[in-house]
Amino acid sequence: MTSTDTTPLFTVQQAIEFAQAQFGLPRLDAQMLLSHACGLPIHDRAWLLAHCDEVLSFETQARYLDLLQRRAGLEPLAYITGVKEFFGLQLHIDNRVLDPRPETETLVEWALTCVADTSRPQIADLGTGSGAIALAIKYSRPDALVTAADASADAIAVATANAQSLGLEIATYVGNWCAPLTDQSFDLIVSNPPYVAEGNAHLAQLPHEPIAALVAGKDGLDDLRQIVVQATEHLKPGAWLLLEHGFDQAQAVQELLGNQGFVSVQSRPDLAGILRCTGGQWPRVK
Ligand code: GLN
Repeated sequence: MTSTDTTPLFTVQQAIEFAQAQFGLPRLDAQMLLSHACGLPIHDRAWLLAHCDEVLSFETQARYLDLLQRRAGLEPLAYITGVKEFFGLQLHIDNRVLDPRPETETLVEWALTCVADTSRPQIADLGTGSGAIALAIKYSRPDALVTAADASADAIAVATANAQSLGLEIATYVGNWCAPLTDQSFDLIVSNPPYVAEGNAHLAQLPHEPIAALVAGKDGLDDLRQIVVQATEHLKPGAWLLLEHGFDQAQAVQELLGNQGFVSVQSRPDLAGILRCTGGQWPRVK
């Protein structure tokens, strides 16, 4: 007898319950992984619900168990399935870039309000990674001239591929923070830079993501400090700089902006109520 004959096979419903009971996975994650193992779009839960008593094939079950192991090893769902929805856009994601977080949508929403009254606003997204922020802005404001930069050429390859598959036109540059912006000035600069402190215990939960996209020196503020200084050379009078940061960094980032001469400095909470973004306006008259 081969293992194919002896391995007990799950029904769709049992497979979902197994992932919840044995791996502690949320039901939705289990459904997405099972859809992926079945070769279906990951949001196609209708098929799973309609076929809950159907028995998995040996091959599908083997694929599914492998995906569960990967998830149990803390690999982000987005890396396993290769896709992530962000601000209503379907992005291709892999381990060259940070897995976009829902809290970053707060930054996009705020960014859109900052340029609501500006036609053809010029906007830069620094450390764009997958292009999530830049593409969400471009999608919502087709008239905007959006620039996306990242120090990682790998990240820019991912962002460029996402722009192409979404049919969104953005300018992309490889370079660290404002270095590739040369003499350009913007109505808005946004960034979700690395902001986790070296050695922070939280990093143990993120072993698969690029460390350079997560960690920024002893207090997690190294990159935020650089951006706040460099951005002043690239903001038009009255332009905004909006920054995502860690759950306990709002006050520190407010101080960085205030000390640099920004006005109307303020922070915004994410959906969990955590002050997650801080921004300021470059004075109209200096
Ligand atoms: N928000 C991420 C986390 O704490 C970190 C992302 C970042 O450093 N920009 O998991």
